Amino acid sequence: MNRLAINGGYPVRKEKIYYGCQWIDDDDINTVVDTLTGPFITCGPKVDEIESELVEYTTAKHAVVVSNGTAALHCACIAAGIGPRDEVITTPLTFAASANCILYCGAKPVFADIDIETYNIDPKSIEANITEKTKAIIAVDYTGQAVNIKEIRKICDKYNLIFIEDGAHSIGTKYNGKPVGSLADMTCFSFHPVKTITAGEGGAILTNDDNLYKRLVLAHTHGITHDKDMMEDGPHEGPWYYEQISLGFNYRMTDFQAALLISQMKKLDLFKARRNEIVNKYDEAFSDIPEIIIQKEIPESDTCRHLYIIRLDLDKLNCSRREFFDALSAENVQPQIHYVPVYWFPYYQHMGYEKGLCPNAEKIYEGIMSIPLYPKMTDRDVHDVIAAVKKVVENYRK
Ligand SMILES: *Cc1c(COP(=O)(O)O)cnc(C)c1O
Repeated sequence: MNRLAINGGYPVRKEKIYYGCQWIDDDDINTVVDTLTGPFITCGPKVDEIESELVEYTTAKHAVVVSNGTAALHCACIAAGIGPRDEVITTPLTFAASANCILYCGAKPVFADIDIETYNIDPKSIEANITEKTKAIIAVDYTGQAVNIKEIRKICDKYNLIFIEDGAHSIGTKYNGKPVGSLADMTCFSFHPVKTITAGEGGAILTNDDNLYKRLVLAHTHGITHDKDMMEDGPHEGPWYYEQISLGFNYRMTDFQAALLISQMKKLDLFKARRNEIVNKYDEAFSDIPEIIIQKEIPESDTCRHLYIIRLDLDKLNCSRREFFDALSAENVQPQIHYVPVYWFPYYQHMGYEKGLCPNAEKIYEGIMSIPLYPKMTDRDVHDVIAAVKKVVENYRK
């Protein structure tokens, strides 16, 4: 057996590889430079153009691009009318922003548990957590796999709730043939560099609903409107006149970011194909390793995978998750953990959330780690990751 690098052996590879990395090529660079040297670097035509492209790609009726994915979630909560005394149900196995946006509106995040095989929010647990105060559900397409849209839609219809999909991981995914973005009442995307396509920082909200769309537009630009039909006092003050009719924020995306995103969108299908090619290689390599549990895919989801998660069956290993993590990173394959359950953080603990609240999410958290997955990975990189995981498993096998 090869000695682990952490014990003084040779690492599987020389150069460190990380769990995610953007793909920026000359087309991306040139389009950004063109926009930067043009007349509009913000509030210009590229923003309209990317919104049209997102509408076309997702088949949703409207798109609003914003400064980041967290702003997208905040705008969605504002548009949904979420306020103090409301409760909103979400998953704990997510980035903190999925729950923080509820707090921004003065409402209470309620954590439903996840399905032990797909790691997505469990509709049965959603229903068990509904009260008179429940206003909306924020369901996260964890790792890119679509949530159980059919069941969540049913629950939303039954209890008159707004369905917000946190699609930060899932642009490019389809559910029963329909693109994410067209399915929930509102879908939020993130274009942070680790996500599938990037604008540096960026986000978007997609909706089919005209009223929600109007509120989203207001929310991301100060609550100000130039639209005569929306004004209360009207344009009688003169041609310079606009009105603030609600309280909004400045969450606008710049035109050079929009230009980058337009260029990235052209590569989305290619990114999806390469990501899934790597996922298939990993699935195949790990399927006969009993110490590693693979995330289950529901047949309805044609997934554009953002993260590849290995779950350790720690009963079969002579090491802790931490020891496995450190050994893998010593082989120069740097894993990451997605995510610490949100309510474990001190800020949430101080609000009174207690550990033990969502047993499945906590159990999954104890054994998972994300290994490198991004389209720029070479076949050699993929080979190294598999070799490193196998090497660590073999060394710690009981
Ligand atoms: C990245 C992410 C966000 C936040 O997006 P930003 O663009 O970083 O603000 C929200 N939810 C999930 C699940 C994410 O992964």
